[in-house]
Amino acid sequence: MILDKIDELLKEVQNLSAKNAEEVEQLRLKYLSKKGEITALMNDFREVAADQKKTVGMKINELKTLATERINQLREECETQEGGEEALDLTRTPYPIELGTRHPLTIVTNEIIDIFSRMGFVLADGPEVEDDNHIFTKMNFAADHPARDMQDTFFVSQHPNDVTKNILLRSHTSSVQARVMEHMHDENGKLTAPIRVICPGRVYRNEAITARAHCFFHQVEGLYIDKNVSFTDLKQVLLSFAKEMFGADTKIRLRPSYFPFTEPSAEMDISCFICGGEGCGFCKHTGWVEILGCGMVDPNVLELCGIDSKEYTGYAFGMGVERITNLKYRVSDLRMFSENDTRFLEEFESAN
Ligand SMILES: [Zn+2]
Repeated sequence: MILDKIDELLKEVQNLSAKNAEEVEQLRLKYLSKKGEITALMNDFREVAADQKKTVGMKINELKTLATERINQLREECETQEGGEEALDLTRTPYPIELGTRHPLTIVTNEIIDIFSRMGFVLADGPEVEDDNHIFTKMNFAADHPARDMQDTFFVSQHPNDVTKNILLRSHTSSVQARVMEHMHDENGKLTAPIRVICPGRVYRNEAITARAHCFFHQVEGLYIDKNVSFTDLKQVLLSFAKEMFGADTKIRLRPSYFPFTEPSAEMDISCFICGGEGCGFCKHTGWVEILGCGMVDPNVLELCGIDSKEYTGYAFGMGVERITNLKYRVSDLRMFSENDTRFLEEFESAN
């Protein structure tokens, strides 16, 4: 008796059809819901004689599987039909939508900006195609300085008889500092101090591309000008930065150096955060790693940008973002930053 009923239902289920999602839902209710045909069979199953239970049980399972598969199949068919017109929307973002990751240089640049912002520095920006005046002349470079040579710099237009008329791809972001110093004057030409800016950006040098050098890279420079700014202020700001960026135990040391736009000038090392200053392969067994250049703004630079060097002093610093990123994430090959290899970029998914 119950077996006849099951066979009847099996035939019904094999031939199920539906025109829309609503009809599919009706079929689901009829066969698979708690009040449906199959649940009713389960209840009848209790009455089945013991020697028949195995055969009947297998048949009910067969029916249940078939009904579930058939109804799911009908549901998919209806969804495809109903979604048909939307599927033709060629402007829609293709599925699955893959979330991108931030580029490691962006992560590190943002981190540097964030640290200096909290110390009162504001962002400043400037053009990447720049004139000689802002890149070299106002930064106190001599007319015959090697940076003005073809071998080091990409020129857009060159004037051999008057280098100050050259147009070039900026070789450092100091040009932004020159522009800020020029503009920070009121209508009477008086400086609106203090100037406290941070200038991130891409710079270009005529270098052969290798694991350790590239024809473009990124810098973050900082500039602070006010009355009574001293070298001690510079050192304290850089120490705070190093501790925030590389950890509270980080120590710094300054070594005398030379830049045309600062006097005195220094290069700053941090204690190697891999060996803690003990000495390892990474820090070439010195316990120190170089991270930036800095110094007091040369009075010539202040005067060239319209600032009275007897009234105001200032400091400036600059660092390579690739260098800091290499230190933080130990990227051994500079070229990986611009190859767009997603296997490399996805490594930084959790870094941000
Ligand atoms: Zn080390």
